[in-house]
Amino acid sequence: MEKRELEVIGAGPAGLTASIYGRRSGLDVLVLEKGVPGGQINLTDEIENWTGVIHASGPELAESFRKHAEHFGPEFRDAEVQKIEVKDGSKFVVTDNGTIEAEAIIVATGAKFRKLGVPGEEEFTGRGVSYCAVCDGAFFEEQEVAVIGGGNTAVEEALYLTQFASKVYIIHRRDSFRADKVAVERALSNDKIEVIWNTVVKEIAGDDMVTHLVLHNVKTQETSELPVAGVFVFVGMEPNAKFLGDMVDVAPGGWIKTNDRMETSVEGVFAAGDVRDKYLRQVITAAGDGATAAMAAYAYIAEQLHLRQKVFEPEHTFIFLYSSIDESQMGLASQLEELKSHVQDLVLIDGYKNSRMTEKLGIEEMPMMLELSKGKILKAEKVASAEEAKRFVGLS
Ligand code: FAD
Repeated sequence: MEKRELEVIGAGPAGLTASIYGRRSGLDVLVLEKGVPGGQINLTDEIENWTGVIHASGPELAESFRKHAEHFGPEFRDAEVQKIEVKDGSKFVVTDNGTIEAEAIIVATGAKFRKLGVPGEEEFTGRGVSYCAVCDGAFFEEQEVAVIGGGNTAVEEALYLTQFASKVYIIHRRDSFRADKVAVERALSNDKIEVIWNTVVKEIAGDDMVTHLVLHNVKTQETSELPVAGVFVFVGMEPNAKFLGDMVDVAPGGWIKTNDRMETSVEGVFAAGDVRDKYLRQVITAAGDGATAAMAAYAYIAEQLHLRQKVFEPEHTFIFLYSSIDESQMGLASQLEELKSHVQDLVLIDGYKNSRMTEKLGIEEMPMMLELSKGKILKAEKVASAEEAKRFVGLS
């Protein structure tokens, strides 16, 4: 079976940045992408908050990210990942185009628009219902359209649509926006935009194409109809993480939980970008996550190799396991450094940094001397001094 060092799932800003950092660390990197490299930014016309670039269109930025990644030579492959399997510590990425074993995996699959879940939404998707103003806005030249939502994306995309539509209604279930002040001020001062507050959509109706919306005012309880030719839905995002099932820990909403090294609850599986549980979902934070995940994956792979060679493969080895956050154990470790010249197969390992390895060995206390054969413990003893350690290895 094909085996790669680092597999990155998703070629958005997070995945592409991870591939750059992975390759620059010398890793063999395979990037799996089911759609167009660049991810969600392909859907927006304006990016004004990527540091160093005052203004770029999303597709322009996506193209420059892809070219930058290609420069460092990761392999790109068209494939949709269907699941990740972990068997006896080995990791397998199952795609619609075969299964590939990986030393480490970065899940950078981003997020997608949440649906409204009202009658007519499925039926009229592509026939008046859209989740992408940049892709579909131009179809509504001189027509009236509605934008549903009250966050940044809703307000910014409503402004974008005023280039084409004769009128843009923003339908929001509350009486104020969650969006940035600047965007809100721009929207509220635009003659083509009218906000319908405290209102939800009950139904999207039409014949061949959308003709009108059925609305419900949550304050007055009144129901009304609004004639529009297009409906743009921006009511939040959900993570592209269903393919993982329940293999990693998630926060409410299904966002993947990580620590600040982007490690998930599964050893060797990292998550980066919009798919993870985080405060701010933007290009710049996704890229930062991608860099961190790749460097943490690199450290993980190097550590696994080192541990395999030193702990799990040798016919015979002595290990001194200590904790680097305990001063006395650090002191004992430096005393034992000199023992290495007398005992060739003695290895000193920081059990605090390699907590997953200590778990695997079933060690709960440190400092500890171990005698192993091919990863099996022959003897284990808690030691408190260099003398006790020497006795353990047969030197006194
Ligand atoms: P994504 O960009 O979502 O990329 C994930 C990639 O993974 C996609 O290419 C997807 O096809 C792929 N994928 C998903 N599932 C699978 C699978 N199972 N197998 C293989 N591949 C898979 N951010 C800003 O900073 N500034 C802005 O102005 C801005 N405007 C925006 C406007 C819009 C309309 C939208 C939608 C987003 C905007 N954002 C903006 C947010 C920004 O685009 C995201 O934060 C960023 O793209 C997240 O990057 P990512 O790599 O985590 O995920």
